[in-house]
Amino acid sequence: MLRELTYGSTMSHPKEKELLDALGTISDPVFEKPMLELGLVDSPTFTDNEASMGVQLSCPGPEIQQEIRTRIEQVLAPFGITKLNIHWDLKVPIRQLASEDPVPHVRNIVLVMSGKGGVGKSTCAANIAVALGQAGAKVGLLDADIYGPSVPTLFGVHEAPTSEDGKLIRPLEKHGVKLMSIGFLMDDPTQAVVWRGPMLHGALMQFIKDVDWGELDYLVLDLPPGTGDVALTLAQHAKVTGALIVTTPQELALQDVYKAVSMCKKLNLTILGVIENMSHFIDSAGVSHALFGSGGGAKVAAFAGAHLLSKLPIDPEVGQCNDSGVPVVAAKPNSAIAKAYSKLAQDLTVRIARHLFEMGGGQKAPSTDGPRRLRIMR
Ligand code: ADP
Repeated sequence: MLRELTYGSTMSHPKEKELLDALGTISDPVFEKPMLELGLVDSPTFTDNEASMGVQLSCPGPEIQQEIRTRIEQVLAPFGITKLNIHWDLKVPIRQLASEDPVPHVRNIVLVMSGKGGVGKSTCAANIAVALGQAGAKVGLLDADIYGPSVPTLFGVHEAPTSEDGKLIRPLEKHGVKLMSIGFLMDDPTQAVVWRGPMLHGALMQFIKDVDWGELDYLVLDLPPGTGDVALTLAQHAKVTGALIVTTPQELALQDVYKAVSMCKKLNLTILGVIENMSHFIDSAGVSHALFGSGGGAKVAAFAGAHLLSKLPIDPEVGQCNDSGVPVVAAKPNSAIAKAYSKLAQDLTVRIARHLFEMGGGQKAPSTDGPRRLRIMR
């Protein structure tokens, strides 16, 4: 943990007490509580016109850094502070670990689920994972869709992973994401995998446990469609942070999505948010068309008691990038659709941090034990 501030420390600025009081009024944009109270500001020092301090971040991404910087600048400016040096320390909160947790170094496990196939679940999982990596997080993506793996195609990776000691599998890495998929281990990806329940469970747990994920802030799991056993296995063996539900707007998809939501509720899985994919199509004149109807995402979110995190449009570039093996967030990071995925990833990290904060009673910053990573932005 960061050190608590001690008022009345060696003064080097005539208005140090007022400056510290001013800092004490700043709320953390994620937890909306005073940053000093939460222990998120470390060792502030002031000279004539300059302030320096460490700030602990609970979510990656430049937007939150900028927001905190602006808030600090605003309260210190009246005292003539014109230069602010911040040592940023990203410490993503960690989920509650199981007693024999299979991956204690993985801070968060996020399940990406849908009731139905073809709604864009794998595409969302892939682009969210890449966006989290771009924002500065350590990320893994596990293709838990044993029957229809799509990660090899989405990332254009087809080689087999290696193992140094014959025990731990080293995941492949692409676009800043550690990847594992049953597809990497199949000689012929057109062949069907015929596995029954216990084998399936065993394989999935092996992919979690026997893969050398290292330290991860987020492990994104692309689950098979439906309400199947995979989520059940996971819920029993690892304490997952929560689930993201992907749906399309039309009624036909909704019935199956409701079942997936009900299953999450039965398993006590937190629903971190709902994504309405293929929500609308924006034509070349900028006019939006609701091709598959509208309101589905909002209905699912209401049923789930969760936030509708994003309404992603149908964008032909998404499909083209998928087929070329580079997720659109990596291929065209400045496109509107890539920005929508990045915003979605950012909102997800905020939801995760707030959820863990609330689980811990909301009194102090959620547990962030682990190595510190300092980055400096001036
Ligand atoms: P699922 O994992 O739910 O089966 P996929 O991610 O495989 O779905 O997506 C199904 C198809 O829809 C793929 O061809 C994919 O390229 C396409 N797709 C997904 N999201 C979008 C989108 N927002 N715009 C256009 N095409 C999309």
